[in-house]
Amino acid sequence: MESVLPRTTTLSVVIPMFNETAVIPALVARLRPVLDALGVDYEVVAVDDGSRDDTVSVLFDHGRDWPQLRVLRLRRNSGHQAALTAGLHRAVGQWVVSLDADLQDPPETIAEMLRVAREDGVDVVYGVRADRSTDTVFKRNTARGYYWAMRRLVGVDLPAQAGDFRLLSRDVIEVLRRLPERAPVYRLLVPSLGFPSAEVRYDREARAAGETKYPLRRMVALAWESTANFSAAPLRLATWLGMSSFLLCLALILFGMFAHVSGTTIPGWTSMFVAVLLLSGVQLVCLGLLGEYVGRIYATVQNRPAFHIGFDSRDEVPDAQPVARGDDAARTPSFDSAVGVRG
Ligand code: UDP
Ligand code: MG
Repeated sequence: MESVLPRTTTLSVVIPMFNETAVIPALVARLRPVLDALGVDYEVVAVDDGSRDDTVSVLFDHGRDWPQLRVLRLRRNSGHQAALTAGLHRAVGQWVVSLDADLQDPPETIAEMLRVAREDGVDVVYGVRADRSTDTVFKRNTARGYYWAMRRLVGVDLPAQAGDFRLLSRDVIEVLRRLPERAPVYRLLVPSLGFPSAEVRYDREARAAGETKYPLRRMVALAWESTANFSAAPLRLATWLGMSSFLLCLALILFGMFAHVSGTTIPGWTSMFVAVLLLSGVQLVCLGLLGEYVGRIYATVQNRPAFHIGFDSRDEVPDAQPVARGDDAARTPSFDSAVGVRG
């Protein structure tokens, strides 16, 4: 595909997509007029996160008459934040907006973000969800709990209800690209960098089509990633657990000695059993916590990329053909080999 991108691209819009076939037509229909009306050079980086449906071929269909649409394909499903990383690292714009594919974040807000960034001279513009009434009660409450816990744990000035809809300047992108972090959680990482920032409020809409790609399992995983990325507090929890169980056992020992002296011989089995169970339980929890962090150290030392880019439609290789579903990306000649987080 011939690249028609000018050398200086003002705006990149990065959109991670996992099995989003159903929503792409609506997304294109709404996003393109907004971006065309901005009057700046832009690119849309659609990151296909190893979709198993027709996302890639549908994207290429749209790309035929929308030259600014660039398709980045990850070899396998690597998760929302990894797909975002791939997009942010590859985006070329002076400003980079990240957006969900499902139109929950209204594309119209991009114009306001860009205006605010330029007028106020800030590097980061957060999209802050003013109204989430279209989200389920469960999602709203888990989100509230998440932001509350993260504020306490992370200790940075975290804008509440700011998800992954935000605008970043080239300076921020360059800092992010240099960070060695393997699995960044951007909604915490970006505020922690301390760049001048502003907020733009928007109403969160309902998903335009398709289903959520964030089941409970992934939400829990994100919460744990966020916690462990930013805080060793869970390790201290292990210390606290250990200390309180130690105190409890001290009390039990005193009780046992008192019982012995006062002649009330207790059969002893139950208390022994409970004490052993309790202690081994606490020890296992502490070991597990240590293991989690050791695992992260191991993963960091191994230094494997969090994602592999299989295809980037911007790489102008003559025989780089769009890959349809089922094609083996790794075998076509135009593919990068293992371009990863630091690639
Ligand atoms: N997503 C992704 N990889 C994944 C899961 C999700 O790229 O493994 C994308 C998804 O296509 C969407 C965005 O991340 O563009 C947010 O996902 P979703 O809207 O399903 O999450 P929710 O809004 O329900 O929290
Ligand atoms: Mg969504």
